[in-house]
Amino acid sequence: MDKDKKVTALDGYKKKSRHNYLPATAVDIVLFRPNGEELESGPQEQKIGKGAAKYDLEWGGNWQGWQDLPHIQIPLNRLFKNSLDRDEGLQWQKYLFQAGALTEPEDLGGIFGEQSKKALQALIGTTKRTPDAWEKLYTKYGPIESLTAFQQYAWIPAVT
Ligand SMILES: [Zn+2]
Repeated sequence: MDKDKKVTALDGYKKKSRHNYLPATAVDIVLFRPNGEELESGPQEQKIGKGAAKYDLEWGGNWQGWQDLPHIQIPLNRLFKNSLDRDEGLQWQKYLFQAGALTEPEDLGGIFGEQSKKALQALIGTTKRTPDAWEKLYTKYGPIESLTAFQQYAWIPAVT
């Protein structure tokens, strides 16, 4: 593979693409012959588009203007809602973890499921994430920037 081949105007450092964030929300697919030889860009990349459509992913070959045939990504409308939900869930879980109501690192996934609801119930007497419930946690444990219990887990983004 030609690693120096330039495929984007984004440098991955100052200008990040969706490949660079973690979790990444885009991938480029390179097709190879059975003998390991890389296939040049061409009509066979339509198969990437067909595969992407099958899973409701967005294919760079369908873009207006410049087309990125090896590129597939999660559509923005799905990604945005999903990541907002998880970000919000994680903020709540940080409090629950700080309080010891959640104890396993796996509980800090941002998905506010039964385990998290039970923990919230035990802590402040409700399973509902309301402004009032948030206020109780805030009053008891302080601003989210001051929470430290989860900080050993590297995958959790720091509050900035
Ligand atoms: Zn790409």
